Amino acid sequence: DQEVNEYSTSLAIRVSGFDVPRPIKTFEDSGFSVELMKAISKQGYEKPTPIQCQALPIVLSGRDIIGIAKTGSGKTAAFVLPMIVHIMDQPELQKEEGPIGVICAPTRELAHQIFVEAKKFSKSHGIRVSAVYGGMSKLDQYKELKAGCEIVVATPGRLIDMIRKKAFTMLRATYLVLDEADRMFDLGFEPQIRSIVGQIRPDRQTLLFSATMPRKVEKLAREILTDPVRVTVGEIG
Ligand code: ADP
Ligand code: MG
Repeated sequence: DQEVNEYSTSLAIRVSGFDVPRPIKTFEDSGFSVELMKAISKQGYEKPTPIQCQALPIVLSGRDIIGIAKTGSGKTAAFVLPMIVHIMDQPELQKEEGPIGVICAPTRELAHQIFVEAKKFSKSHGIRVSAVYGGMSKLDQYKELKAGCEIVVATPGRLIDMIRKKAFTMLRATYLVLDEADRMFDLGFEPQIRSIVGQIRPDRQTLLFSATMPRKVEKLAREILTDPVRVTVGEIG
């Protein structure tokens, strides 16, 4: 409707897809728990950034998303906050073990930044986050993963390595994030990404974020996302 259109335009947001949830204006509009609201204000986040305004209600509704927005726009919280909600919504006792949320990023540095952000929002919920990228010895990493976690933040190569070593299974994974998908392709990770996606149940929720959408990334998105909503913020895309 008119009001939503004007609001979206003021945020420089473009969306495509059917039944797109309305953008939010405040974090309260997301219906986050008191705990999560506390963690958000502890970060000094007063209001959602444009990509968060539109991505949060989409992802919280369980939809797949293609998020196209430049660096520094606040994409991390746009996928980490709904991931916390998704994990807290799981039944307490589950037969399966292994991560529920799986985040892939192109480089160790980027994965580490996400790891740090994810930990800030997970701590008060008793959610365990494991980092799966170079820097820690493979043996220590293996042991940590064996002990269990709800979220892994990984570079694709090391993640495949740990799956192959049976450090965990993907049986419980239902929330997959591919962050900076274009850079992962630039770095030649397409086969690894396809392998990882192939090991996660098809009824998962899938989120793909990218600064640009080259044809190869577009093709992957068509193959692995289900009825995604596409959100573009700003000039690019
Ligand atoms: P991107 O992944 O889009 O490059 P980040 O998620 O790394 O962006 O966020 C960029 C910076 O903005 C980070 O320092 C992050 O802590 C901060 N940030 C994210 N969301 C908000 C918000 N709602 N309010 C204020 N700062 C925010
Ligand atoms: Mg980012």
